Amino acid sequence: MTMTSSDIRRTFLDYFARQGHQIVPSASLIPGNDATLLFTNAGMVPFKDVFLGQDPRPYSRATSAQRCVRAGGKHNDLENVGYTARHHTFFEMLGNFSFGDYFKKEAIDYAWQFLTAELKLPAEKLLVTVYESDNEAYELWTQHIGVPAERVIRIGDNKGAAYASDNFWSMGDTGPCGPCTEVFYDHGAEIWGGPPGSPEEDGDRFIEIWNIVFMQFNRHADGRMEPLPKPSVDTGMGLERIAAIMQGVHSNYETDTFQALIKAAAGVTGATDLSNKSLRVIADHIRSCAFLVIDGVQPSNEGRGYVLRRIIRRAVRHGNQLGARGAFFYKLVAALVEQMGEAYPELQARQAVIEKLLRIEEEQFGKTLQRGLSMLEDALQQVTDKVLPGDLVFRLYDTYGFPVDLTNDVARERGYQVDLDGFEAEMQQQRQRAQQASQFGTDYNQQLSSKQVTDFTGYQHDTGNATVVEIIRN
Ligand code: ATP
Ligand code: MG
Ligand code: MG
Ligand code: MG
Repeated sequence: MTMTSSDIRRTFLDYFARQGHQIVPSASLIPGNDATLLFTNAGMVPFKDVFLGQDPRPYSRATSAQRCVRAGGKHNDLENVGYTARHHTFFEMLGNFSFGDYFKKEAIDYAWQFLTAELKLPAEKLLVTVYESDNEAYELWTQHIGVPAERVIRIGDNKGAAYASDNFWSMGDTGPCGPCTEVFYDHGAEIWGGPPGSPEEDGDRFIEIWNIVFMQFNRHADGRMEPLPKPSVDTGMGLERIAAIMQGVHSNYETDTFQALIKAAAGVTGATDLSNKSLRVIADHIRSCAFLVIDGVQPSNEGRGYVLRRIIRRAVRHGNQLGARGAFFYKLVAALVEQMGEAYPELQARQAVIEKLLRIEEEQFGKTLQRGLSMLEDALQQVTDKVLPGDLVFRLYDTYGFPVDLTNDVARERGYQVDLDGFEAEMQQQRQRAQQASQFGTDYNQQLSSKQVTDFTGYQHDTGNATVVEIIRN
């Protein structure tokens, strides 16, 4: 019988609980211990201070299924959604952690045991990478576990921008750091892509499933690498990627959870072709939006709130492209509750709140979407060099509420690029105008333009300066 995503989550946590790990519930997407981080983007984030020895816990081994968002900041997979088989804005990271307890041998043993004995994956489909100079990990894989040497790949950290891999992890410029080892799954020769370390590694044939970090050193400001007295382990495996493998499909979007969301999205948009890329985007986006709302984020014009707003608007645009007229996105919350409500009771508890908030935001954007799209369409017809000029991108942003990544999304689908530098220059000018305007006192300007603002986009959720700037701008 195939395992559902829920089965896999439970099997993982149970397995590590049996190996003496404390099961720790998922923390919020808003990191409680790090103001510099936009969102929780890995399972280790809530344990940062534990690794640093600043947050003592009654256990030295932990396991979790941590909700993560990678849609802004250092880790941003927003542009990958709809284009790769393996990236989401929201996903769950399954992890096991050793806080100065076990190290490389046990970590590698556990990972291999879990994949090949618990999940019964065929060993010959798995490849591993190690950090180029980490002979210890290399020998553990080849000799202790017995993975053939041609499937253990050494990866360095200075291969240039064309390569995504780099097998050395660090928490920051200073502090804990160390080599990684990663497990990849070969989805078969009919899929484009090469093994890690090859020029085709960004393809989706060999998909990274598990990343294991050995926190081995403490890096000092002068670059000195001091071995940690008690090295630690941090691992992360994407639930959706392992679910795809266990369900015998290639793309995460073909798994149980996503198929249910895609069908629901087709239902509310009127789309008939279930393989349509826009349905995947919408299915992805409802998860990040709903969970961000649960964790207290509200659409706004800056910071986390603007990331949420951008994701919602992108989803709305994709729905529009599929033929949806009127609000549809909020209707998917029910399908999400059905899929994930058991693992996340707060989803069910806050269903009505999430629906209401999404609906307001959707309806608001719906007012300007059509006009913005037809302006964009005209521009696409006229542009001759396949680059959308910055002032147009700015006007779409300023007048029609099109986040620049949304415009870019449309442009990319049609084989156009966006003049980002030109857009930035326009933004800069506007900031200056806003500053000058505010020197004359805000009353007149606000009176003059607040009507336009409510007519167009009505940023009614905003409080404080963002609103004022927005009003002056218009
Ligand atoms: P990739 O190279 O495929 O982008 P990554 O190296 O950026 O993945 P890590 O930061 O090592 O990913 O995260 C640990 C694990 O979390 C990955 O091995 C993968 O299984 C999963 N993962 C990472 N990013 C995503 C994402 N955007 N969507 C779904 N799963 C992800
Ligand atoms: Mg990545
Ligand atoms: Mg990677
Ligand atoms: Mg990785």
